[in-house]
Amino acid sequence: DQAWFQDPALGRVFALLNADGGEGRVVGGAVRNSLMGLAVADIDIATTLLPEAVLERAAAAGIKAVPTGIDHGTVTLVIDGRPFEVTTLRTDVETDGRRAKVAFSADWQSDAERRDLTINALYANAAGEVIDLVGGLDDIEKRNIRFIGNAATRIAEDYLRILRFFRFFAWYGSGRPDAEGLRASSAARSKLKTLSAERVWSELRKLLSAEDPGRALLWMRQVAVLSEILPETEKWGIDAIPALVSTEKALGWARDPLLRLASIIPPDPARLEELAARLKFSNAEAAYFRAWAKAAPVNDEISAAAFEKLLYGNGVDGIIVRLKLALGVARGKAENGSFDEMSRSARLSKLLDHARIWKKPQFPLNGADVMAMGIQAGPKVGEILSTLENQWVEENFVSDRAALLARLSEIAG
Ligand code: ATP
Ligand code: MG
Repeated sequence: DQAWFQDPALGRVFALLNADGGEGRVVGGAVRNSLMGLAVADIDIATTLLPEAVLERAAAAGIKAVPTGIDHGTVTLVIDGRPFEVTTLRTDVETDGRRAKVAFSADWQSDAERRDLTINALYANAAGEVIDLVGGLDDIEKRNIRFIGNAATRIAEDYLRILRFFRFFAWYGSGRPDAEGLRASSAARSKLKTLSAERVWSELRKLLSAEDPGRALLWMRQVAVLSEILPETEKWGIDAIPALVSTEKALGWARDPLLRLASIIPPDPARLEELAARLKFSNAEAAYFRAWAKAAPVNDEISAAAFEKLLYGNGVDGIIVRLKLALGVARGKAENGSFDEMSRSARLSKLLDHARIWKKPQFPLNGADVMAMGIQAGPKVGEILSTLENQWVEENFVSDRAALLARLSEIAG
């Protein structure tokens, strides 16, 4: 689908950049996805103009321009509410392996050559012509994920490219990953630990968000890259991924990179804390894994009453993760012809449906009720409350406020 290219807003970007000896071209993901027949998300533009010139031209044309990354030469133009990242052509000057250092240039060839993969270095000009300076079109056709130039050299400029190689293979590759890229990734794998956690986790999360990250993970394990960034997978293995991915598809679950990660690491609270710190998880991500590790494994033959108690005591979020993972495993075995696992999946499915609509029952008493019975503020109040709450849970949440107040007055009186 090439409708994005007819967008009048993009036309205005071209008009702005292509006057007076300047030039702009769409580059990277938009060109790649468009050629592959996939949806185009954000549109990145490369230009021969310096960032200051882009800002000046935008101001003169009354176009909103935000200097979002002026050091890297990036100005974001906002037209009809849509952002276009416009970046000045760059060329590599030096590198420390953690991020390439670049200088502005006006040379398309060197801008293409400093990019990572051939499929990511294609340009489209205002006339809609694709310009291929590194052999990317052929690789798009073959879905071949390949570094521009010598793989080992390109990786040594920025070791994150190892993970980008596997990320783009997961999303767009077919067959086997390029052999030279695999070899160079494996040889440089020990350098992954020199990268910032944010960059590593951001790439890994994108890899885990691919429609099927399973093949890429297998190759990463094969060449010993996986254990460099996720030693947690060493004992556990990555075999759970295919059944989980097929379960997601069959049951219409959104692709969840955290669930996929959970399926290949052990639910060990201490190791999960270590993982969260190492990859600098967000608070929400750390909470996801903490809830999972805290939740008890769910027996699929649990009674309805016991399940209510489990949800109340363990927290629903972690139990949902447990159930989804168990369901993935059970469905995988069921596909291999196990009747037991078929009925286990059916039971897990029901539990999951229930957990997803479950609302935590609210215990109807509070500290004020206890003190109203003449108990002084202090630890005794909490003790009485938790005794009554435990009874209430044991009796399956049936007692209402009136009944509990009556019981409270017995205890307090
Ligand atoms: P998507 O945004 O769909 O994930 P993308 O191709 O736009 O894919 P980005 O990570 O947004 O990927 O990077 C934009 C472009 O910048 C890439 O297409 C690539 O040409 C270049 N690029 C990004 N990161 C690197 C890197 N570490 N080394 C070399 N080139 C890079
Ligand atoms: Mg992008």
